[in-house]
Amino acid sequence: MAVDPAPVMKVRYSPLEQQFADVDEVFEDLKALVRSTDFTLGKVVGEFEEMFAAAVGSKYAIGVGSGTDALKIPLKALGIGPGDEVITAANTFYATAGAIAETGARIVFVDCDDTFGIDPELIEAAITPRTKAIMPVHLTGDMANMTRIVEIAEKHGLKVVEDACQSLLAKESGRPAGTWGIAGGFSMHPLKIINVWGDAGVIVTDDPEMDRMCRLLRNHGLRNRDEMEILGYNTRLDSVQAVVGKWIVAKVEDIVAARIRNAERYDAAFADIPEITIPLRRAAKGPDERAVYLNYVVFAERRDDLLAHCRANGIDAKVHYPIALYRQEALHHLGYPAGAFPVTDRHTETIISFPADQHLQTEEIDYLIGVVRGFYGR
Ligand SMILES: *Cc1c(COP(=O)(O)O)cnc(C)c1O
Repeated sequence: MAVDPAPVMKVRYSPLEQQFADVDEVFEDLKALVRSTDFTLGKVVGEFEEMFAAAVGSKYAIGVGSGTDALKIPLKALGIGPGDEVITAANTFYATAGAIAETGARIVFVDCDDTFGIDPELIEAAITPRTKAIMPVHLTGDMANMTRIVEIAEKHGLKVVEDACQSLLAKESGRPAGTWGIAGGFSMHPLKIINVWGDAGVIVTDDPEMDRMCRLLRNHGLRNRDEMEILGYNTRLDSVQAVVGKWIVAKVEDIVAARIRNAERYDAAFADIPEITIPLRRAAKGPDERAVYLNYVVFAERRDDLLAHCRANGIDAKVHYPIALYRQEALHHLGYPAGAFPVTDRHTETIISFPADQHLQTEEIDYLIGVVRGFYGR
């Protein structure tokens, strides 16, 4: 085989350098924050929460310390703890499992379908008398099948808390990710749809009691300065991150529109490569359906070779995720044997992620497409 020539272009995965190249405006707002000394749950956190709720279309938004806590706190608010079970997707990021485990509840995995969401047809078999909630995960910027999941939850009297960390502004039947269940959790970690300068998370809900409980739980269970109503945590949204959050949440519609445009360019170019399969997507099903492409993911034949070929050609392609969560050493105690989740396993072997972010240039996309076509001899 011929040695690959030096790559003619580099395509990075993360847009953070470009994202924060021009932030004098944010520094001005940070100076004002520092002078105000309004550092804990002050004015700027409230302003950010209002903007976030408006962007998602929820009644309430509650800022917390991380996306993980944006999942854990609503579960705690529902009283979920030791002896309870929470059903979630077998193919997800570590944090979904971590958040459930932190409550003391048992993690119950269910296999996915080719939208990367939990397969609704497999949920009922996993329900036991101890099941309290379902935590569907909207992976890659697409949506899990929420219509079916909510139906099943209602039939069995279960609560739904959505892990919407990857899918801010995604929609099913016109209804946004995070607004289907009793609560939804979002992350503003640097690698998500909108990102701050460290860790931050947001819970959304339309339920006043859920809102009240989440506000208590994020701040030591304090009803006011002197009265502690319940045992809680310290997981307040940092005011510094709220300043950055206000700046970026104002841009979220444009960010998502650019990601969708980029994905359409890839789709058009990959459609005639038989070795590439574009996943089933809710976005393909009409104007009320929207995937927001945190990652642009396809199924690829000879995936590992394609990945190596991309890297050799300067493209920082990735796999989300190469080891199925249920196979991780940390979760061996759950007792799932290798092969328990065949769709998830197939995904780990065949998926590849390319960047789709708002700072990606058309030339970068076209170069990447050319490298992939070249790999398959097209
Ligand atoms: C990022 C992410 C989270 C939360 O992660 P944090 O790093 O705590 O913000 C949870 N679930 C999924 C699927 C994620 O991608």
